[in-house]
Amino acid sequence: MTVTVGLLGYPVKHSVSAAFHQAAFDHLGMKAEYMLWEVPPEDLAEKLGELRNPDHLGANVTIPHKEAVIPLLDHVDTLARRIGAVNTIVNQGGHLVGFNTDAQGFMTALRRDGEFEPLGGRAVILGAGGAARAVAFVLLDEGIGSLAIVNRNPDRAQGLARELEQGTRSKEPGKRNRESGTRAGEPGIKRNGQGRIVAYSWEPETLKLALDGCDLVVNCTPLGTLGSQWEGHSPLSAASIPPRILVYDLVYNPPETPLLGESLKAGARTLNGLTMLVYQGAASFQLWTGRKAPVEVMTAAARSALGLGG
Ligand code: NAP
Repeated sequence: MTVTVGLLGYPVKHSVSAAFHQAAFDHLGMKAEYMLWEVPPEDLAEKLGELRNPDHLGANVTIPHKEAVIPLLDHVDTLARRIGAVNTIVNQGGHLVGFNTDAQGFMTALRRDGEFEPLGGRAVILGAGGAARAVAFVLLDEGIGSLAIVNRNPDRAQGLARELEQGTRSKEPGKRNRESGTRAGEPGIKRNGQGRIVAYSWEPETLKLALDGCDLVVNCTPLGTLGSQWEGHSPLSAASIPPRILVYDLVYNPPETPLLGESLKAGARTLNGLTMLVYQGAASFQLWTGRKAPVEVMTAAARSALGLGG
């Protein structure tokens, strides 16, 4: 029997997931097909019903369904529930279980390719959408010392900061407070740059405050994406980027994004989102198949799908 897995999104045409997952199945000699399922929101529940069939391994989930699938699943793992977004569904004998592998993919790439250890560091996240949520939760779980969230819509940044504060406080409050140097019970969310998790509006002055003394910037906005209305746009200019920090752009097409170009000019280290894309895919692959994902094969297939050399 050929088994099926695929990407649920709307639209999904430009995804490179099919290329690298199919390459992994073929490399391991598995009879499996990775499909692109363009599903409008009103058809989501019906499509999930199909995923329960024995010939379906599950699915990846992308924009705009990452949050909407949650109430339609039988079980959602703890991290995905805390993040509030599912990017992987596994069909476990007719029961649909949701996971978030973006967080793991981000962290693997940060350590392995960015050579960055988050413990005690100071991070700035640009954006407060689904990807920013995964990045923020996992950075806090890994002991980042402080987190600044800068977003165009400041209320969304503030809302995320509040949730993060609650999420981490309920976990290990004593440990986290010692690491950040803040006192137990001190409010962590302020707009004036104090505390461990700070929400900022997106303005030159607030960006300057957020970036001052940071070690890591993560772009979780689509600014700079090839073929989008933001192609050629960088969220930051070279003059505002501190030298020697790591700038990690979740955008991977083009590979040298406008932000990474500005970062190089500023003397910062850079990492694009391609390795995260492959590592999150590898984690999904392992959840569906129980087999170790062939990461090198997947990376080569992703690069080829993007028209990049070996
Ligand atoms: P999302 O939930 O739609 O969030 C988008 C975020 O970008 C929001 O915070 C939004 O701000 C901000 N934004 C959008 N346009 C902006 C603009 N013109 N100026 C400033 N801010 C802007 O999307 P997402 O799922 O988080 O994805 C964000 C990016 O990460 C996408 O490019 C996606 O492809 C990429 N991503 C990459 C990987 C990977 O594996 N490499 C994984 C996941 C996501 P407002 O709140 O103000 O609207």
